[in-house]
Amino acid sequence: MSADTAYLAENWAQTRRRVDDACRAAGRDPAAVDILPVSKTFGADVIRAATALGLHRFGENKVQEIRGKSAALADAGIGWVMIGHLQTNKAKDVARLASELQSLDRIELAAALHRQLQQAGRTIDVLVQVKTSPEPSKYGLAPGQLPAFLDALRAYDSLCVRGLMTLAVHSGEPAEVRGCFRQLRELRDQAISQGHDLPRLSMGMSGDFPLAIAEGATEVRIGTAIFGRRAGQGVN
Ligand SMILES: *Cc1c(COP(=O)(O)O)cnc(C)c1O
Repeated sequence: MSADTAYLAENWAQTRRRVDDACRAAGRDPAAVDILPVSKTFGADVIRAATALGLHRFGENKVQEIRGKSAALADAGIGWVMIGHLQTNKAKDVARLASELQSLDRIELAAALHRQLQQAGRTIDVLVQVKTSPEPSKYGLAPGQLPAFLDALRAYDSLCVRGLMTLAVHSGEPAEVRGCFRQLRELRDQAISQGHDLPRLSMGMSGDFPLAIAEGATEVRIGTAIFGRRAGQGVN
């Protein structure tokens, strides 16, 4: 555990430094960009070690993992952030256990969550996930559907809509990656001009966060750079 803590502490400090550097390079205030540590596939022991660094918000992409880890870490005051594709029949778990959902991408899911949240007497923050890359493997709302979707979400007052989230195309071409982030920012700016309050842009991961910060990310989701390589993760 102490070895874990030293390893995490060094990775965390280096990640924060790199994010701060990217902010300065983009002419932005480092205080305006948060880091969401993505702990998917890592166990409760690793996450507990990370809480010793003052981290209390963790991104996960599977409901089953949130279920197991939130039980094991019930005393740790953690806010669980769901960032992966969510099946409608698992809305109840997110309504019970998560503090936030960043992958809201369809109205049936919003309706199911709202129903469960009302029963639980809770509200949660949500980001709308928009599909800015052409890969079929990526989820998200089609950009053209965003204005109507945001209007429809007004009916579900247990969902506090705070902004947008995206995953950029997986490409070695920085201009293509940056184009995805730019599109999300432009969609956010249009939505603001239509009266929506959307301060947050969650975009950028270990391999592409400087480009996201250059395009206005307010939050980057970082897994590998903090926790190390995941089992089964490629080396590209
Ligand atoms: C895994 C994951 C991340 C973090 O990816 P890294 O490359 O490990 O930093 C960010 N966002 C989502 C949606 C993820 O599933």
